Amino acid sequence: MKNIKKIICLLLASIMIFAVGCKTPDSPSSEQPGDNNGGGSNVDSPVNPVKPNSFGEVKGEKHDYKITETGKYIINAGRTDYKILIPKGMAENEYIASAVSDLKLMFSEAADVELEVVEDDGQLTGKYLAVHSTSLCSAESIGATSEKLGRGGFRIVTKGDNVIMCGATPESSMYAAYEFLHQALGFDLLYTDYYVLDKNVTDLKLMNYDVTDIPDFEYRIQSTGWIRYNDQNVKRMKWTNEEWIIPADESAGNWHNTFIYLPPATYKVSRPEWYSEPRGDQLCYTAHGNEDLRAEMIEIVSARIIELFSMEKYKNYNHISVSIEDNQNCCICETCSAAKQKYGADSAVIILFLNEVASIVEEWMNTDAGAQYKRDFRILFFAYHATNAAPVVYDETTKEYKPSAPEVVCHPNVAVYFAETNGDYTQNFHDEGTANTQVGKNMKGWGALSNEIYFWSYSTNFSYFLTPYNSFDTVQDILKFAKNEDTMFIMIQDQWIQPGGQTGFGVYKNWLHSKLEWDVNANVSELEDYFFDNYFLEASDTMHQLFNEYRAWARYQTDSLGYKGFRSVYYGAIKEALWPQRMLERWISLTDKARKEIEIYKQSNPELYRKLDKHIAMESIAFRYLLVSLYSSKYEPTYLNSVKQTFANDAMNAGLTLVSSMNSQTIEKLLSQWGVM
Ligand SMILES: [Zn+2]
Repeated sequence: MKNIKKIICLLLASIMIFAVGCKTPDSPSSEQPGDNNGGGSNVDSPVNPVKPNSFGEVKGEKHDYKITETGKYIINAGRTDYKILIPKGMAENEYIASAVSDLKLMFSEAADVELEVVEDDGQLTGKYLAVHSTSLCSAESIGATSEKLGRGGFRIVTKGDNVIMCGATPESSMYAAYEFLHQALGFDLLYTDYYVLDKNVTDLKLMNYDVTDIPDFEYRIQSTGWIRYNDQNVKRMKWTNEEWIIPADESAGNWHNTFIYLPPATYKVSRPEWYSEPRGDQLCYTAHGNEDLRAEMIEIVSARIIELFSMEKYKNYNHISVSIEDNQNCCICETCSAAKQKYGADSAVIILFLNEVASIVEEWMNTDAGAQYKRDFRILFFAYHATNAAPVVYDETTKEYKPSAPEVVCHPNVAVYFAETNGDYTQNFHDEGTANTQVGKNMKGWGALSNEIYFWSYSTNFSYFLTPYNSFDTVQDILKFAKNEDTMFIMIQDQWIQPGGQTGFGVYKNWLHSKLEWDVNANVSELEDYFFDNYFLEASDTMHQLFNEYRAWARYQTDSLGYKGFRSVYYGAIKEALWPQRMLERWISLTDKARKEIEIYKQSNPELYRKLDKHIAMESIAFRYLLVSLYSSKYEPTYLNSVKQTFANDAMNAGLTLVSSMNSQTIEKLLSQWGVM
């Protein structure tokens, strides 16, 4: 956020000029119902709209870096004696293989040295960069155990002349290798095939590493296409492997899967009591008060979970969900209503139901038949829409939430998956008077019932993928809030089906998420400067200026132009008032300026030039899209066509294909509507 305050006054002065200069007739195609903000004319007296983050430092996990000099070298005068050491028989392991291949690649690119790889045979005499637990140094001896580090934590330790990179699992040992590459050679992946790395290294000091780093969220699931569809990006950015939850149908039924366990097509006629009133679009977890029928439901669900946990292909999975269907409803039958009355929330009946399921599964794991499948499992359910609120009471004296009854505390193997698209991710979770105020209170309530919280957050406008969504101001606060409530799993849903990349600074946004999910207290200003300087190089200042202007304006959009509130992630964002014409023109011109600034690489480094040009072009896509969508009638056909054509070329080059989260709304279709292609 460097310089953001400095530019506010200038920017707001400019915006007032834009607004005065752009009073235009309403464009019928761009108006949303209820919108009468025509032309951005209500910006007469703006005040500084940028609020500082207000949630202070929260208690995170250990990020302890003690690094001192040894006086020795890994690379000296362009030569190295070091080899990569891995455990015997693990060369094919996907995480070890990734660590090895990138250690080799980065040392080769940065210092032009080739590192030999040896498998541990117990006969070690050289100097090593050791990945994972080996006879040189066991994981236990340096405290790299799951008890101490969890699933994702790691140690980097110097022992004699050797560097040990080790976690409790191959995956976390790989994280250690990427962190070592960051410390030693400046490695950091910013975007597909684009990473920061030191160059022309002839001497690399051997440092005395004593590093313990544990991610603040044990599970960090990425959710944007450019990362998700690229396994190398997932690994290099230290995201958690996505294969962690068993689909109830062995295919894609991870979520909203209650009807997979108890399909209405099979049971609705014979067991109408199992389905909700009035619409039958959810389960009735009380079976309308019929205990025998309820027991039968519990038996079917637990039998299926036991069956899945017994399958060889899921032997490494600990998680499964029994999660409500994707609508805003829940059962309002007499028994469910009475339970809501008694416990204070619609979610109580789900906890009571799943606590019984979990007990059955747990008992089975303690039998001879189940012993071989025993694991520390979790059954997850959604706190989503009708079930977002927890059955708790607020104690005014202690200012804390307490269970409304002992039986609604989650079984140790049952945990809440907190997700609320009705929230507003342009706002934090702790301020009063926003659409998130209640969402934040609900999360605190769940903190009193569930040992761990699984948290599904949001960070894009799902109706308009090609426009920016301002979650930049709030994401750190929301993550800190979640960390305070013992959240151990986080997924921030972004443009998960948009392949290639993202406009609206979505590449930066998702890179930032990777850093904050590891360390919620990280310094965002420093991260932002680092990203812009390295991702845009010579165009950094110009692109940073564009980003800062957008951020200041976006805060004004939320505070004064109504881009906020209930379900802002679906907000009808194509409105003239939100995007004044001259402002879009200015922002496009800034991207044009930035594209000129990187032309110095056109001859000297054409590959780098192409990458940088793509980075800048990707950001121009949003503003060209808005200009054409809102102001087509204001331009000569020749100019308009050139804007559309540039948009088309840039979108194709960046690999973007979708206009929204609906698979049918493709850029190809948009271009044909625009008369291009
Ligand atoms: Zn019911």
